[in-house]
Amino acid sequence: MNLKDGLAEILSRCYQPRKEQKAWEWIEENCELPPESGAKLRGPIDTGVTAYTRGIYEAYADNAVRFLTLAKSAQVGGTTVLKNLVLWDIAHQPNPGIYYTATEKLAARFNDRELEPHFKYCKEVENLAVRERGKWKQLEKLFANGATIALRGSNSPSNLASIPALHVKLDEVDKWPDESEREAPAVQLAIARTKTYEDIRKVFIISTPTVENGVLWQYYLKGSQERYHVPCPFCEFRQELHFYYTKGKGGLWYPEDCRRSDGYWDLDLVRQETRYRCANCDGLIHNNRKLAMNSEGTWEKNNPHAPFDHRSFHISALYSPFETWGGIATVYLESKNVPGRMHDFDNNYRGMPYIRKATTILSKDIMAIVESSPKYERGQLPVKPRLITMTVDVQQENFWWTIRAWVRDRVSYLIDFGSAISYKDLDNIYRRLYEFEGSKYKVWKAMIDSGYSAKRRAGVYDWCLATRKNFFPARGVGKNAGLTDSWGERSIKHGGSSRRDGSSKSEGSTIVITYFEDDIYKEELYCRRIKERSEPRWYLPQDITHEYIDQLTDEHLVEKPSARGNVELVWERARNNHLGDCEKMQLVCGDMVSGYLNKPEPKAEDPDDHEIKPGLVVDTPPPGWS
Ligand SMILES: [Zn+2]
Repeated sequence: MNLKDGLAEILSRCYQPRKEQKAWEWIEENCELPPESGAKLRGPIDTGVTAYTRGIYEAYADNAVRFLTLAKSAQVGGTTVLKNLVLWDIAHQPNPGIYYTATEKLAARFNDRELEPHFKYCKEVENLAVRERGKWKQLEKLFANGATIALRGSNSPSNLASIPALHVKLDEVDKWPDESEREAPAVQLAIARTKTYEDIRKVFIISTPTVENGVLWQYYLKGSQERYHVPCPFCEFRQELHFYYTKGKGGLWYPEDCRRSDGYWDLDLVRQETRYRCANCDGLIHNNRKLAMNSEGTWEKNNPHAPFDHRSFHISALYSPFETWGGIATVYLESKNVPGRMHDFDNNYRGMPYIRKATTILSKDIMAIVESSPKYERGQLPVKPRLITMTVDVQQENFWWTIRAWVRDRVSYLIDFGSAISYKDLDNIYRRLYEFEGSKYKVWKAMIDSGYSAKRRAGVYDWCLATRKNFFPARGVGKNAGLTDSWGERSIKHGGSSRRDGSSKSEGSTIVITYFEDDIYKEELYCRRIKERSEPRWYLPQDITHEYIDQLTDEHLVEKPSARGNVELVWERARNNHLGDCEKMQLVCGDMVSGYLNKPEPKAEDPDDHEIKPGLVVDTPPPGWS
């Protein structure tokens, strides 16, 4: 082909008269979901299946609109919307475009799995593709009509600061990596790329929201905040679908008799029986009416103060053709009592940011435990213990300690607590005897905190060795410390010395340190044991002191969004929580000996018992904890 013919062909491709059609009509006529995209639906796009997307496509094609935000759950076809709009841009608005996602790796994967196959099945765009060396790369592509598309990861500042663009698409912004160390957030840098085209730019931000203060939700709130209203098949009342049922507002509903005889929900029955209950007529709408309702739906604005050029949309899995209402209800019932799962449910099913109720321990929470405990006084043993453990919190000036008696199933009783000045004091406390029905019992082991400061830590190790491991060191660590379980042990050498040339003079002694994940045990203590009073039972004496209560009510779980938009459990304390730390370590002890606690007790006439000094019963060591 000579140059003239070539040019003529390109020009004819570019200047074909375009028929009047809506964006979603063009998409239905020209776009397909290829088999390799892994999407649930394949073949030509039918926007009727996700009818709520039509209004979004229309908003995008509206010349007055500059910003679009889509807050979405999983399974509503969000990625497909993005891909179709990339194609639509190339065919209708031949200008530079950039697609941003969390990382460059994800951008490359999006290209290979989603975009490239999508191009191949869209004849109009494929005809424009300049598939030549240097003009068609994995992350940068040129089209004969002048359109370009670049794919970028948000995590490289140079990527964000490179080329100007008219169309910018920002995918899953709430999952972009931590950006706290940047001079400006990645989302702002990406939007800044459109400055050259300020009056005609098109910025589309899309994500499953994670937390309220996350990027996505903040942009959603700035825009028109549109919700999709669908008519009730019975009374035609138009309403937004939402998850939680309340009378007069509607919601997902399943009958009370979906419970089994033991009171738990029968999930199969819930899946079958769940209906959407109309806000107006209380009619029970079957899931199979959903598609028809969606096709009659309209987007309704909720923010009269939104700038005219920013439209924001929210859509949840309740509208999804890929989810049933019964399925969503069962996911909810499975999630609601599992830590962390409600966060996932709110994000991926309701399309809502997760709002965790902060936990604050009040003195009445402690008093409620005292009231529900067996009646015993501090210093008294109310049961025959299987084991007694002591925990010690190390401060610069002093020590704090607790002693707990353990019985089967990790049920435990606080026996005593207090502060001590010296290691000698600790030793005396450790040696105290506690009586139950004529027999005397003593502490089996004492766990001592070795995490306070490096100087004190060496002292703690020396003490542990001096007590011949009756005291053993433990340290709370963060979730990135590589523990595979909530606790674990590691041996170190302590007390060795080395010569100037680095060779060792003496090896030192081996000491085993118990590591535990701090946040897990804090949540276990403050949320599970104290706030929710869930099993295993955790008892307190009747004469608990104000000091104990103050120290146990000093820690608060507060919700903080991390820079990357995830929710973080952050424990905040105001004054001191040393006895709380001791009680937390007690729970670690309980986990360490749980196997031993559940073993059947030796019989009274056990011959071994006769060898024990009369009146002083010393527990046999639990295996693996010597
Ligand atoms: Zn109705």
